[in-house]
Amino acid sequence: MRRYEVQEFGQPLAAHDYPVPAPVGAEVLLKVRAAGVCHSDLHIWEGGYDLGQGKRLSLKDRGIALPLAMGHETVGEVVALGPEADGVAVGDVRLVYPWIGCGECAVCRAGNENLCASARFLGVHRHGGYADEILVPHARYLVDIGEMAPAEMAPYACSGLTTYSALRKIPADVLAREPVVIVGAGGLGLMATNLVQVMGGRAILVDIDPAKREAGLAAGAIAAIDGSAEDAVKQLWTAAGGPIMAMLDCVGAPQTVSLGFQALGKGGQLIIIGLFGGEARLSIPLIPMRAISIQGSYVGNLAELKELVALVRAKHVHPIPITRRPLADASAALDDLHQGKVVGRTVLVPAV
Ligand SMILES: [Zn+2]
Ligand SMILES: [Zn+2]
Repeated sequence: MRRYEVQEFGQPLAAHDYPVPAPVGAEVLLKVRAAGVCHSDLHIWEGGYDLGQGKRLSLKDRGIALPLAMGHETVGEVVALGPEADGVAVGDVRLVYPWIGCGECAVCRAGNENLCASARFLGVHRHGGYADEILVPHARYLVDIGEMAPAEMAPYACSGLTTYSALRKIPADVLAREPVVIVGAGGLGLMATNLVQVMGGRAILVDIDPAKREAGLAAGAIAAIDGSAEDAVKQLWTAAGGPIMAMLDCVGAPQTVSLGFQALGKGGQLIIIGLFGGEARLSIPLIPMRAISIQGSYVGNLAELKELVALVRAKHVHPIPITRRPLADASAALDDLHQGKVVGRTVLVPAV
């Protein structure tokens, strides 16, 4: 089997061949049918996050060991089972839940493995989907996608789950009543635009790129606004019919957080899922005086992924625009994402 690996942070991925691993215990081996190229892969590849004020979060210090095959948005076909694995059979096509924790701590036992302090995420701490095959520790992490297309379902493991889990943090009555402002119309933003509508709400998109605003309107947003416009806050209030009560920041840059802070009404909620980086200056008294909530959301738990996949299958959610590329293009696909050339999602698929 071939893996496309980060061998050195920031350097092109290198292809390496290995013997196909034999699953042990409850492990399941899947042949990769689709591997989404996520923006957070860029951070892993670069080796860290900008924390602002010249500080950096180094992934090397966080225990990310190289070489690593990234890829945490994976759909695979079961090809082998460990002796203790059950619940799936050879030939089953499944979406892989990658946000796996230790399984033993209180956080994991409460069902939030994505928040475990001893994470062993696939494609981050362990080899992921940028490979011919992927090894999953247990069949419970495999979600049935029915007849859905693997390349369209793969992004639900990260961008879908991240946006779904964040949107679920907005009270249902607010979501039903108030438009949700979605900042950033990349993979996450377009996914959020689709999901808001399926969940019974309306979306207003913000992006500085006209092509991405166009894609947002095509995805059903009621308005798409240039966040760099001087009167961006005014435009948002006009589109929403008043101050903003729910905002999802899919960028997470100083400018977007500042825009969110200015646009929120009293009791408004800003949920940040973007990891662009940097730091924001906020006037502290305005937080209590305006009763604002600023909240982070990080991927989602296994139950949420199952709920999301059921929702997508039942409501026939429009897929975000997908560009399929062969697995062997993994490095070039990352480069294109890095240069901002990607609208929607690139999904790596096996060569035909
Ligand atoms: Zn991701
Ligand atoms: Zn744990």
